[in-house]
Amino acid sequence: MGGNEIVLFPLAAMGHLNPMVELGKLFLRQGLSVTILILQFPKFDNNPINSYIDTVSAANSALSFHRLSSPPSTVEAPTFIHHFRLAIPQLQDYLSCNSSATALVLDFFFDDAIDVINKMNPRLPCYFFFPTSASNLAAFLYLPFLHKELTVSFKDLGDTPVNFPGFPSPIPAFDMPIRISDRSSEAYKAMIVQFDRLPKSSGIIVNSFRALEPKALAAIAAGLCTPGRTMAPIYCVGPITSMDGQEHNETAGSERRHYSLKWLDGQPRGSVVFLCFGSMGGAFPEAQILEIAEGLERSGQRFMWVVRGSLPEEDLEAVLPEGFGERTKGRGLVVNWWAPQAAVLGHAAVGGFVTHCGWNSALESIVAGVAMIAWPMYAEQRMNRVFLVEEANIAAEMPGYRDGLVRSYEVEEKVRWLMESSGGKEMKARAAAVRERAKAAMREGGSSYEDMVKMVYSLTTAGGGERPTADL
Ligand code: UDP
Repeated sequence: MGGNEIVLFPLAAMGHLNPMVELGKLFLRQGLSVTILILQFPKFDNNPINSYIDTVSAANSALSFHRLSSPPSTVEAPTFIHHFRLAIPQLQDYLSCNSSATALVLDFFFDDAIDVINKMNPRLPCYFFFPTSASNLAAFLYLPFLHKELTVSFKDLGDTPVNFPGFPSPIPAFDMPIRISDRSSEAYKAMIVQFDRLPKSSGIIVNSFRALEPKALAAIAAGLCTPGRTMAPIYCVGPITSMDGQEHNETAGSERRHYSLKWLDGQPRGSVVFLCFGSMGGAFPEAQILEIAEGLERSGQRFMWVVRGSLPEEDLEAVLPEGFGERTKGRGLVVNWWAPQAAVLGHAAVGGFVTHCGWNSALESIVAGVAMIAWPMYAEQRMNRVFLVEEANIAAEMPGYRDGLVRSYEVEEKVRWLMESSGGKEMKARAAAVRERAKAAMREGGSSYEDMVKMVYSLTTAGGGERPTADL
């Protein structure tokens, strides 16, 4: 490997891996070499990840993947963070055997590594990749400060609005991620340490664009989220979304094209509402599946619904209402487990997206100019809901998500509202306008393009590396 090798260490879960791989491709275009380290967590569903890596490797021979061996299975690693901690020696080994590494980009969940790496090689710049929004970054950076002000847990504050500098609207305490809802929990304590560490890095790379989140970025730049501390530079290089493994699907007439896309070809423009709930969750209990099915059926709308039962090979007929397939034939398609989401959203027939508000899903929808119905489920998705609904105004909230069971009449009404009402049309027009801003950010001279150039300059000069030749 020559000089200027960037080592990326993503969390091997689709929502983190996918944008980091796309970031790797941007680095390649800047004339750098890229190695992506993979450490799998045994408790994740690793099948889509393995096939994703195979597809990406086949399509991008310049991206080099290197699998780190897992820590011994005899050691208990209840979460991926623990699992990663145990693997820090493997990361150190890799870096000491590969002295050409110019910079390291870590998933922000791997914050533990930064102190070890700084000690091992203080000349190696260490960046964090933050795969969710700049608004969330603003809120999380402020968390260690808020912690000192508050004496109660978010879980005990109900719907009390919590103000974070830079977060565009107050966040109801109920909508804070479960992991940090209880201040006495180990997860909460770990997150406080984690967000205290981020400013110490050489920079934070955010998958967003400046025109989407001006308030958050201004607050971070003004030091409002990290009072009294020196803050690492922020590089907003997004939206980086992936079509890998999906590109071939776009080739009309291709045998390999996913059947969901072929089905969409036969639907009128903008007529289909797409429902998909992420790569990890969305495995609804049967009662919820029935409510969705009834709501979709009564809405009269065309739909494509990715259903995740408890297993990929589950027989969906058995969990759907009797005769559902027959009654919705021609206007509805149920896809078992996995659809090529980015390609589906980019299909002209899709006119709305019911989403769990994972940030990648939100960005893919933004890139496609598709308005959303926000049904957040886990992680920071409720915070994303606040941003998408209250600030960007390109999503409407699915009522009932807070009660644990969304009723069929709520599904019916919301889907109809988005697809038929004048309010829905206005929201679609706003989503189309945001799409144009996203495109402008990524174009040469756009804000994300410029942030990428600045970051590459900073990371290749910080460690004394050569300036690469850009090829954008
Ligand atoms: N995804 C997909 N097909 C599916 C489910 C998910 O292609 O059936 C992709 C989706 O396009 C996105 C990623 O998986 O790129 C999910 O990331 P996100 O941040 O939205 O949610 P997470 O899965 O991390 O909760």
